[in-house]
Amino acid sequence: MHDMQDIEEPRIGVYICHCGVNIASTVDVAEVADFASKLPCVAIARHYQYMCSDPGQELIKKDIMEYRLNRVVVASCSPRMHEPTFRKACEDAGMNPYCFEMANIREHCAWVHLAGADTTAKAKSLVASAVSKAALLAPLARKKVSVIPRAMVIGGGVSGIYAALEVADKGFETYLVEKEPSIGGHMAQLDKTFPTLDCSACILTPKMVEVASHKNIHLLTCSEVKEVEGYIGNYKVKIEKKPRYVDERKCTGCGDCATACRLHNRIDSEFDMGMGKRSAIYIPFPQAVPTVYTVDAGHCLYLTRGKCGKSPACVDACPANAIDFTQSSTEIEIEVGTIIVATGYEMLDPAEMPEYGYKYEEVITGLEFERLSVASGPTGGKIEINGREPKEVVFISCVGSRDREGNTYCSRVCCMYIAKQAHLVRDKIPDARVHVIYSDMRAYGKGFEEFYNRVMAEGVEYIRKELEEPVTITKDSEEGVVVRTRRSTGEEIAIEADLVVLATAIVPARGAEELAKILKLTRSADGFFMEAHPKLRPLDSFTDGIYIAGCCQSPKDIPDSVAQAVGAAQRASIPLMQGEVEIEPLVAEVCPELCTGCGSCEAVCPFGAITLDEKAEVNEVICKGCGSCNAICPSGAISTKHFRDMQIYAQIEALSHL
Ligand code: FAD
Ligand code: SF4
Ligand code: SF4
Ligand code: SF4
Ligand code: SF4
Repeated sequence: MHDMQDIEEPRIGVYICHCGVNIASTVDVAEVADFASKLPCVAIARHYQYMCSDPGQELIKKDIMEYRLNRVVVASCSPRMHEPTFRKACEDAGMNPYCFEMANIREHCAWVHLAGADTTAKAKSLVASAVSKAALLAPLARKKVSVIPRAMVIGGGVSGIYAALEVADKGFETYLVEKEPSIGGHMAQLDKTFPTLDCSACILTPKMVEVASHKNIHLLTCSEVKEVEGYIGNYKVKIEKKPRYVDERKCTGCGDCATACRLHNRIDSEFDMGMGKRSAIYIPFPQAVPTVYTVDAGHCLYLTRGKCGKSPACVDACPANAIDFTQSSTEIEIEVGTIIVATGYEMLDPAEMPEYGYKYEEVITGLEFERLSVASGPTGGKIEINGREPKEVVFISCVGSRDREGNTYCSRVCCMYIAKQAHLVRDKIPDARVHVIYSDMRAYGKGFEEFYNRVMAEGVEYIRKELEEPVTITKDSEEGVVVRTRRSTGEEIAIEADLVVLATAIVPARGAEELAKILKLTRSADGFFMEAHPKLRPLDSFTDGIYIAGCCQSPKDIPDSVAQAVGAAQRASIPLMQGEVEIEPLVAEVCPELCTGCGSCEAVCPFGAITLDEKAEVNEVICKGCGSCNAICPSGAISTKHFRDMQIYAQIEALSHL
């Protein structure tokens, strides 16, 4: 407990914030300041309208110098936002920033009670408690650690592509890890993009090629992160690279193997959402990056049965001698300073909601529509169902989104892609009648409202229903299906449709839960990765040095995904550019004389910060100061700096006197 020795005589300044009227309308701030001025060790107490403002901070700095303050207490809002602001003000005036303490009299008092004497009395208690702790605070020093000047991006959709290019363009080596055989993600599957109707592949593929040819990017496809150890600036990562059974250096992408394959065009193409076929050796789509073929180990005759004719036809056909069935999974170890997660999303499986009739051929999802409509798709861009152009088309919004239970959130992009797809139907089949069954319209982005109006003007019928009103799809005859619901006016409707498109919910990518465990990321209630602060740190995760971008954080469109990716890349580049990072000193500390080596702390630490070598040892860079070890230690040997038992007891003691 070195920091607790020789604590100098405390001289405390106390500042009560009005927070405009947020605090002052329910708490008598002048009375609290007067009360504080009489507490032991308090040299000065004031109240001011906005303590976090420049003049408020100047007040603290001036007092530190004039009254020789060595402790400061601010009673205001939650420390989550402004603790760093006030610590910095103290530091600027020459005081140790960790001799600062904050009392939350807004969320814990003013906002949750009515105006009156009791509320003011509670504010006084909270201030007295903070002052008691402040008197026992010890100066602490930040540590610096060096940063490995490399980054890793997980996920090669549009977000991961932009993030990797942005970091690599700054001159830093970047690993882009993609689990599929090609980068591109969902954007590569789309036809046109709302609201400008640019061709999705045309704008994406040049960026994919740029990734492949960038001298600072190492592209690892068919690869997944299996283990991450370390801390900001120094992450050790283990990646599993699955075999393609094709030598990436030799394959020229000629495709002769796929043509020769004994399962030529016999397997459902995942990229075409099962509507097109591929061989057992394939590339997902013609513009795939890298342009290297992959053997599908789940279908290939040689890999599943040990035999493919007399000899594998693909091997015989390959002019580059690139096919190699001896390949197996390899483990790659890399060391990076920062990590960007961009693992995107999946679509909810509509088979989970039988009322939508997904089992019928006439009912498809929004993503399947994209493959049906795109010129490079299985029908060459002809919108056809059962070999016929549909003339009566129904789009249904919010399928599996905005539910009372389950996915309560809005998937954000479907209102607009429905408008886009409705336009594409009218464009390709001018005599088709198009209906959109919806509850609310989310057209919030630049040009979105205008696009929606344009689509309505083109003759698309929007049918409003209440959100809770069910939609059922049944097959009453050989041809088509019947969509039934009730308009918000109460009128029941039944539309006989040749094609129904379900805007199914956007859900977190498969494996998000496992990746969260590996990276120690937090997830929101909806399962998407959680940002460190929803407004002020939307690109950071709670783990220092790990950043999040794109749909893995929440559903969003391409411009928002790109903006977030570029932002996350900037955040991830700062430590790489600085070469070292400062580490907060609010960490656990072991008293070796008291430690019995029982290992309870090691077992409970959620960050793996403790190692046991007869006695417990804390890695100060990994420790987050969560206090779990502190609470579990049966010998009282481990405690957290700034939250020592005596400091906490003093706080409680002060409360119990009032
Ligand atoms: P994704 O595209 O999902 O990419 C994530 C990548 O990460 C994938 O390549 C995936 O394989 C990889 N990955 C996942 N997990 C791992 C892992 N553990 N390890 C390694 N790699 C991993 N937006 C528009 O702006 N305009 C439109 O017109 C439009 N139309 C749309 C139509 C439909 C039907 C849908 C569903 C969405 C549409 N969108 C549109 C939204 C658009 O698809 C997204 O904004 C965009 O694809 C988000 O990109 P992303 O990189 O964040 O995620
Ligand atoms: Fe196709 Fe046979 Fe080659 Fe497998 S071994 S990819 S089934 S030709
Ligand atoms: Fe429903 Fe529109 Fe939200 Fe999608 S974006 S969940 S269709 S309100
Ligand atoms: Fe030592 Fe306490 Fe950890 Fe046990 S729990 S190893 S006594 S510090
Ligand atoms: Fe681990 Fe938390 Fe203890 Fe630090 S304070 S060593 S993070 S349990």
